[in-house]
Amino acid sequence: MSLKAMAQEKVERAGISNYSFDRDTLVMCGVRYTLEACTCGEPDCDGVRLRKNAPMIRPVLQ
Ligand SMILES: [Zn+2]
Repeated sequence: MSLKAMAQEKVERAGISNYSFDRDTLVMCGVRYTLEACTCGEPDCDGVRLRKNAPMIRPVLQ
C-alpha cells in the first residue's frame, strides 16, 4: 500500500472528511502535512506519520 493510501485510511479513521491531497502532501484544514513512513514498530501503528510542513508564513498567535 502506498503512503498516500495509508494516510488516507488514517485520516478517515480519525473521522476527518475535509482533507485533500496535493501530490503526496496531505492538506487538512489548510495545513499541509508531509507523509512519512513510520518504523516505530508499535502493534497499533498504521505505518504512516504525518509531519506538519514548516509554514511558509509566520504562524498566527494562538
Ligand atoms: Zn509508527
